[in-house]
Amino acid sequence: MDYQAVLEEVAAHARPYVRQGRVADYIPALERVSADRFGIAVADIHGEVYGVGDWEVPFSVQSISKTFSLALVMAQSHGGHDDGIWRRVGREPSGTPFNSLVQLEAENGIPRNPFINAGALVVTDRLQTLTGDASTSMLHFLREESGNPDLAFDQSVADSEAEHGDRNAALAHFMASFGNLENPVPSVIEHYFWQCSIEMSCRDLAVAGGFLARHGLRADGSRLLEAREAKRINAVMLTCGTYDAAGEFAYRVGLPAKSGVGGGIIAVIPGRCTLCVWSPGLDARGNSVAGAAALDHFTTLTGWSVF
Ligand code: GLU
Repeated sequence: MDYQAVLEEVAAHARPYVRQGRVADYIPALERVSADRFGIAVADIHGEVYGVGDWEVPFSVQSISKTFSLALVMAQSHGGHDDGIWRRVGREPSGTPFNSLVQLEAENGIPRNPFINAGALVVTDRLQTLTGDASTSMLHFLREESGNPDLAFDQSVADSEAEHGDRNAALAHFMASFGNLENPVPSVIEHYFWQCSIEMSCRDLAVAGGFLARHGLRADGSRLLEAREAKRINAVMLTCGTYDAAGEFAYRVGLPAKSGVGGGIIAVIPGRCTLCVWSPGLDARGNSVAGAAALDHFTTLTGWSVF
């Protein structure tokens, strides 16, 4: 496969979509990013990386971090289907927006899945218990796995989110009232905001997500997750990773994927490669418009969906 040629064709296809959609502004610091940006990268399972456009420009990973926090919790607790985290968070699509409160009361403070905000807060809470410093342990992992020692938090984004974080604080307090948090709410939401504020490029994210394509093996060949655990994360990405549009995304793209409101999307082709695409204009569900178009075109051109 000539990845470079495929990416160039994909980028040309996605270009007309780049200014469609809206840059997220509910976290004011995210609004500073130019809507014109577009980048895409592929990292194959051997670590070769290819990219086009703004593929080396860092952006705010936001909810893409939820994939890594889940992986780190599963890795640290050798979680299988009976692992404790799955007693505290489900694995069904929610059918509601990512920051919705409505299901939580009816479902006794157990979030539907680890990729809506409530579920991600539970996962970060668990990572905090396991590591003593959830956000820093994630940053270190991402530096190692991406091979980029310069990865950092963006304090202005973390601060901006904290200033406008009433909804996430409400979710966390509500779950605490059901006994579904182990750590104090202020510490959980602080670590969650920090992890979301990490800045990474398409290159960094495609390389760092390689363990999902390598059935749980890290870049250095050591094992992070059992193959069945990597399979489970990919499965939850497919069913819950692109907000309330995971069905549409599976229909169009057919890959496990996780998006973030910074405009990034990572996608996994198990056994082959990991992709990351970035363009900040979001559709009404919160997914990058040009990013979804690019991944759609990539799987159409290559025939490499999981289906
Ligand atoms: N930090 C964002 C929030 O919790 C993440 C949202 C997202 O990317 O989905 O609102």
